[in-house]
Amino acid sequence: MRVFKFGGASVRDAENVRNVCQVLQTIGYEDCLIVASAMGKTTNALETVVHNYFQNRFDLAESVDLVKEYHFAIVEELFPNKEHDIYNRLKELFDSITYFLLNNKSPNYNFVYDQIVSQGEIISTIILHHFLLDSNIVNEWVDARNLIKTDTTYRDANVNWNVTVENIKREINRPTLCITQGFIGSDYNGFSTTIGREGSDYSAAIFAYAIEAQSVTIWKDVPGVLNADPRYFNETVLLEHISYQEAIELAFYGASVIHPKTLQPLRQKEIPLFVKSFINPSLAGTNVSKGAPLTPEVPCFIVKKNQLLISLSSKDFSFIMEQNISDIFKLFCEYNIKVNVIQNSAISFSVCVEDKFNLFEDLRLRLINDYKVSYNENVSLYTVRHFDQYSADKILKDKTLLLKQVNRETMQIVTKE
Ligand code: ADP
Ligand code: ASP
Ligand code: MG
Repeated sequence: MRVFKFGGASVRDAENVRNVCQVLQTIGYEDCLIVASAMGKTTNALETVVHNYFQNRFDLAESVDLVKEYHFAIVEELFPNKEHDIYNRLKELFDSITYFLLNNKSPNYNFVYDQIVSQGEIISTIILHHFLLDSNIVNEWVDARNLIKTDTTYRDANVNWNVTVENIKREINRPTLCITQGFIGSDYNGFSTTIGREGSDYSAAIFAYAIEAQSVTIWKDVPGVLNADPRYFNETVLLEHISYQEAIELAFYGASVIHPKTLQPLRQKEIPLFVKSFINPSLAGTNVSKGAPLTPEVPCFIVKKNQLLISLSSKDFSFIMEQNISDIFKLFCEYNIKVNVIQNSAISFSVCVEDKFNLFEDLRLRLINDYKVSYNENVSLYTVRHFDQYSADKILKDKTLLLKQVNRETMQIVTKE
């Protein structure tokens, strides 16, 4: 069985939903499982709904309406017959969102987030399911929340692999094309959970692992994995065949074309991953699999924007050693702040971090009890894998360097632009 993952960009409007149909017709869809994300920027829009629910009730109804109007506009283009079932289904889904927002008693932000934000994937897959049916592509809609079981770490849930693998094996075992959701699962009480932003690639890998898929293809708006993000670099080169190891490193350092958790389950079962263009599905794209050359032929550039560079020094000029470092790391972990680079000297300690949940201010108030804390906001972290002199010079050009770290394979710099 093959697993196809269609991300937000590939279903962002009616034309792109039609294109999914074309991709399936071009490539073939026998013995396939489709894992799909929410349409376009729906997840961001639903995040705004949750934010308004807790902090700005005045704009709540309007933010729900925006999500509703966006989806109804797509549906109106795709299903000209207003009597079509999809209209009722969609109305029911939005009614259930409103019902939840009116009746919810939980003050837990992350819990509410998952109940609301997970609806983006439910809505997109219902639309896709009906549209494919109408295009003579027989398929079954499967609720991923019945299969992917997680703990209750809402917004960043951990998968219970044993139960999940059993569930998927039991459910996804027939020749009919199945269509399910990325990004979402449920806890032991049946409440929806999400596995982290951009997590649909990871969902595809979880399904593939469980059914021991022949391959996974993630369909993207780029020709495959390039040696740099084309949004920030002009001249990019397609990496045709790369090893799991290299793909894991690239994703880990922030090449956001593949979610970092995707590769491990695939590598364990040696399932090849293809990253292909949904615009030109016949092109080969990138193949991540066994037997690839150990290093790509060109340096690879990765940029992470909107980072925070924090420097800590002890108030009493004592050394920052194992004990302090371990205390500091416990705090980063507690506040869910991801550390991307670490550098320390005798009495100071610098980290470049990502504050996904906006908790740095709370953390800072804890840290200032023991340390002098200084920080730069909104800095960028550039990583060059397999750098040479030319690529190192190129990346440093015209930037204000705040921190630099080099090892044999990788150069990292933190800059203020
Ligand atoms: P989706 O959510 O639709 O699955 P993403 O937007 O998460 O897709 O991933 C595709 C995007 O990843 C591209 O549009 C591109 O800007 C970005 N990207 C970052 N690094 C790379 C890279 N090394 N190669 C290709 N694309 C990259
Ligand atoms: N829709 C989710 C997000 O935007 C998951 C995904 O697209 O991978 O984060
Ligand atoms: Mg995405």
